[in-house]
Amino acid sequence: MRALLASSNPHKAEELARSLPGWEIGLLGVELPPETGSSYYENARAKAEFGHTLRGDEWILGEDSGIEVAGLGGRPGIHSARWAAEAVEALLAELREVDGEGRRARYVCELVCLAPEGSELRGRGTLEGHVAEEPRGSEGFGYDPIFVPEGETQTVAELGNAWKAEHSHRARAARALVAAVAAAS
Ligand code: IMP
Repeated sequence: MRALLASSNPHKAEELARSLPGWEIGLLGVELPPETGSSYYENARAKAEFGHTLRGDEWILGEDSGIEVAGLGGRPGIHSARWAAEAVEALLAELREVDGEGRRARYVCELVCLAPEGSELRGRGTLEGHVAEEPRGSEGFGYDPIFVPEGETQTVAELGNAWKAEHSHRARAARALVAAVAAAS
């Protein structure tokens, strides 16, 4: 199985490749149109459709993800895509007076796979956790230095890429997609 990820984020392609054994994941590597959907699914579908119009001969993956923080009413959610270091600092600043339940957070990932003939398969994954007081660790990307998964004491950036390949929201979405592909074939 070979698919092109409609994204310019190489971290996402690497993580999907680790979580989808037997799949060869390429990066479409073009500037994508702005995200205008009102859900992760709509954004992931729009990215996949954009890729499909450019490379109709290939299987295309669209992916949208984000972090939802309880104390911020679920923000930043689908608007999570900002330059990582700035976004981490901004989130920590917003949560300076927030503790306990308010720091609960969830990563969400939605994957849409379009076949060359246009049929669609989907996978969704979430990861529950909380936002740490300060950044720790160096692996992963984005909010990983401040996201501590439920049942863990380390951040995702400390737990590392091998942990993410097994347990992350993206890994779970990838497994759900693999199950959808198997059910359809
Ligand atoms: P988008 O899916 O390209 O719109 O961007 C989602 C944003 O959510 C990323 O730029 C990151 O800031 C954040 N995000 C999504 N998945 C992860 C992850 O696995 N680790 C850390 N941050 C993530």
